[in-house]
Amino acid sequence: MKLLQLLPIGNFDGGLLRELAPLMANLFRIPTEVLAVRLDPEFAYHGERQQFHSSEILQAMQRYVEPDSWRVLGLTSVDLYIPILTFVFGEAQIGGPCGVVSIHRLRQEFYGLPPDLDLLRQRLAKEAVHEVGHTLDLTHCEDYQCAMAPSHAVEWIDLKESALCEACQARIFVG
Ligand SMILES: [Zn+2]
Ligand SMILES: [Zn+2]
Repeated sequence: MKLLQLLPIGNFDGGLLRELAPLMANLFRIPTEVLAVRLDPEFAYHGERQQFHSSEILQAMQRYVEPDSWRVLGLTSVDLYIPILTFVFGEAQIGGPCGVVSIHRLRQEFYGLPPDLDLLRQRLAKEAVHEVGHTLDLTHCEDYQCAMAPSHAVEWIDLKESALCEACQARIFVG
């Protein structure tokens, strides 16, 4: 039986990880486990930007992919970027197997607002579904409520659901 595996990258809140697992299992109809290992992201840090290059993290994640891995999703609290953008909430390998999500800019504190754990959980679930969706070959969706809708700011994330629209679901649950 293949598993969706959640990989903590750096220091990541264990409670958030454990709460995310059943949500993902339910949505993708696949057993989900939290890996006992942890990836140190320091190698991907770029001092000139004071951020972590998400593509380098995805590359390093390949070594955690095992025969029983369905997909491996990395979860981190460090600030991610790719060179052409100021930041990314996450990145994924189209078609799999790895994706990564950061909660750095999903926290209300990042915007100078009081912490809101419930909102953080919701945003994390949406972005986690989004990146796993990309590993399943899903592209961005025009339905703004679908988890595969693009989001370049948290306000866009807050508009969408953590679920996939019917069209996106039909694409991944074929046969
Ligand atoms: Zn995307
Ligand atoms: Zn959709």
